[in-house]
Amino acid sequence: MTKERTLHLVGAGLAGSEAAWQAAERGADVILHEMRPVRLTEVHKTGNCAELVCSNSFRSDDWENNAVGLLHEEMRRAGSLIMMAADHHKLPAGGALAVDRDEFSAEVTARLASHPRIEIRQDEITGLPPSDWASVVISTGPLTTPALSAAINALTGEDALAFFDAIAPIVLRDTIDMDVAWMQSRYDKPGPGGTGADYINCPMNREQYEAFIDALLAAEKTTFKEWEVSTPYFEGCLPIEVMAERGRDTLRFGPMKPVGLTDPRTGRSPYAVVQLRQDNALGTLWNMVGFQTKLKHGEQTRVFRMIPGLESASFARLGGLHRNTFLNSPKLLDERLRLKADPRLRFAGQITGVEGYVESAAIGLLAGRFAAAGFFGSDTLPPPPTTALGALLAHITGGHLADTSENGPRSFQPMNVNYGLFPPLPDSGKRLKGVERGRARKKGLSNRALLDLGIWLENSACEPVQC
Ligand SMILES: Cc1cc2nc3c(=O)[nH]c(=O)nc-3n(C[C@H](O)[C@H](O)[C@H](O)COP(=O)(O)OP(=O)(O)OC[C@H]3O[C@@H](n4cnc5c(N)ncnc54)[C@H](O)[C@@H]3O)c2cc1C
Repeated sequence: MTKERTLHLVGAGLAGSEAAWQAAERGADVILHEMRPVRLTEVHKTGNCAELVCSNSFRSDDWENNAVGLLHEEMRRAGSLIMMAADHHKLPAGGALAVDRDEFSAEVTARLASHPRIEIRQDEITGLPPSDWASVVISTGPLTTPALSAAINALTGEDALAFFDAIAPIVLRDTIDMDVAWMQSRYDKPGPGGTGADYINCPMNREQYEAFIDALLAAEKTTFKEWEVSTPYFEGCLPIEVMAERGRDTLRFGPMKPVGLTDPRTGRSPYAVVQLRQDNALGTLWNMVGFQTKLKHGEQTRVFRMIPGLESASFARLGGLHRNTFLNSPKLLDERLRLKADPRLRFAGQITGVEGYVESAAIGLLAGRFAAAGFFGSDTLPPPPTTALGALLAHITGGHLADTSENGPRSFQPMNVNYGLFPPLPDSGKRLKGVERGRARKKGLSNRALLDLGIWLENSACEPVQC
């Protein structure tokens, strides 16, 4: 293989497999380094590429009404190996795309192994890639080995890479009832770069608070897996249900404290308050402050809709706590997924702060294309943020707003693709309501995405001689 066009890929999971395919199809020589089956992770069981570690579902396949379905369709149009293998081995699953996991991974492995420009090497990378590897994509996933994690930590200057994420739910802004909630920062403090009215506040009276605590304590929780037990909590962020167990008033003196806030409808401070903070630059996603939780997902929806103002809330992401490994990407990566501190290194997959099989593969698809473009002196532009691929990329490389106030410095948390990441549509002038309005919005965003993707694909097509 010609050294100057050799891309070294570390980790042949969902992201690494897709990145290898995309880069090789664009003319790059690829060496794919994968430690399995010589060394397994806590959850992988085979030596196959793109092994699915848990569910066999790629979630909804409805591109018109669901953001992950749209991402499927965009990836298909971009020649995705992961989507091709998923389509070949799909199982009946209603509107979802579920696959036969063994056949799926076997096809991905066979296609990569037989590609003339790809070599698969069974080795664990235990430190920073050697300096003579001119182009590298690291896609070692949520279970990146400790030696490699430590090397990345040292290079990026970050404190921690693997820990329990304390993830709080995120709500779509246009599903919050602003006739009940109001905008105000505590004590009207503008803070750095704020206005004094930067938070959405949902008020509770005593009765509502007591009912909420009862529901929280009674709700079903998920349990830790055995291998998760030895991983520390990140920055001591306790789940809200654990705080509630410590005393009925703990939350009222913690994340739900009402001090410095006045409900404009009563002219008084409420008994307790739930605050939401803007999570993305577009202002479409709002994070429930201090609401990290390990309640089961169905229980979260039920209990959090008891909060006044959130009765009809749609959640772009639900809360959770689990071991994970991911970079503070908005700070560390540029818009083509290169590490600012060492641009020969790109990152892809869950380690960049996306969540899920499809999202991880999608970022692999982009990393493979960007890396290949680099070899041939062309400059593939990032896909526009109006596409699902572009919206996801924009979120991890800059769309997320860093929190500098209450929850510590690391507010960036893994994210599934969702419509809240897309720039809003221009006002159509049509006055629709409720479900009809939601459906029209999703269809509008999806149609715009596929149009814009078509233009991006055309403009970023490689020269036939290289493909
Ligand atoms: C327990 C668990 C359950 C999950 N369940 C789901 C689910 O049901 N649905 C869903 O959509 N997502 C789920 N996820 C998230 C899922 O892991 C990711 O979405 C997806 O697999 C990430 O893709 P990836 O390519 O980034 O990482 P992976 O698919 O994990 O691939 C990373 C690869 O890197 C290899 N590797 C690691 N370190 C090294 C090293 N130092 N040298 C060489 N190779 C290395 C690993 O062996 C692995 O093959 C789950 C994650 C975990 C941890």
